[in-house]
Amino acid sequence: MAARLSAATQAVVNASREFDRAAQRGRIHQIKTHEVVAPDVTVEEMEKVYTQRMAKTGAPGRDIYDEIFSASPQGRCPLCTQRSVTTLDHHLPKARFPALAVAPLNLVPACSDCNKAKLVAVPTRAEEVGLHPYYDNLGDDVWLKAQVIERRPTAVKFKVVAPAAWDAVLSARVLHHFRALGLASLFASEAAEELINIRHQLTTLRAADPVNGVRRELRRRAESCAAARPNGWRTAAYRAWCECDWFCDGGFQPAG
Ligand SMILES: [Zn+2]
Repeated sequence: MAARLSAATQAVVNASREFDRAAQRGRIHQIKTHEVVAPDVTVEEMEKVYTQRMAKTGAPGRDIYDEIFSASPQGRCPLCTQRSVTTLDHHLPKARFPALAVAPLNLVPACSDCNKAKLVAVPTRAEEVGLHPYYDNLGDDVWLKAQVIERRPTAVKFKVVAPAAWDAVLSARVLHHFRALGLASLFASEAAEELINIRHQLTTLRAADPVNGVRRELRRRAESCAAARPNGWRTAAYRAWCECDWFCDGGFQPAG
């Protein structure tokens, strides 16, 4: 029993180190799936270790679980940057990579929607590796852009525009992440709600200063949002709104 436990512990430590090395070099897709962690230590057993010894309230590993859970700023899911964290997501799924079932570097705080909207479970190419918040720092390069749909009721369309400095792999990964998690529709729906909340103010500003009133306010908001989150949906939406003559000239009004 002791020898079996020790072999399993060593396998988990080795797998964590391999994951860390691979992630730093953009080679997560080269990590091999496995059926057993050590002789007689199966996928089912490792899933149980995660569920009962780590994720369960009062479990010995629960402190680590809680620490990862609460590591994300403002409790926001780092994958969609919008919804609240409700769970931990296995970056590489525990069913196919059981030695990584309890490896903290493989555990990312996430909302349940992002947790369910599975990216490629077993990536075989670098382009298929989902973004990992501990390793993939996209910096302040602006990659999220929005476009105003110029008809009433207006809407905002979001898309990824890869900065020139990105290589092809990173561009493909971000695009894949954006599509797989349905971020265009999530952000569009948030922006629609934002517009409902500012419409009255924009109407008042336009009445007071028809030429610059609306644009000035939208620009001010875009700058403030950009200082906080260069690639936040609000930043992209306010930029698009303030740059759109049609929108500033009353396009923000509802149909009718
Ligand atoms: Zn999310």
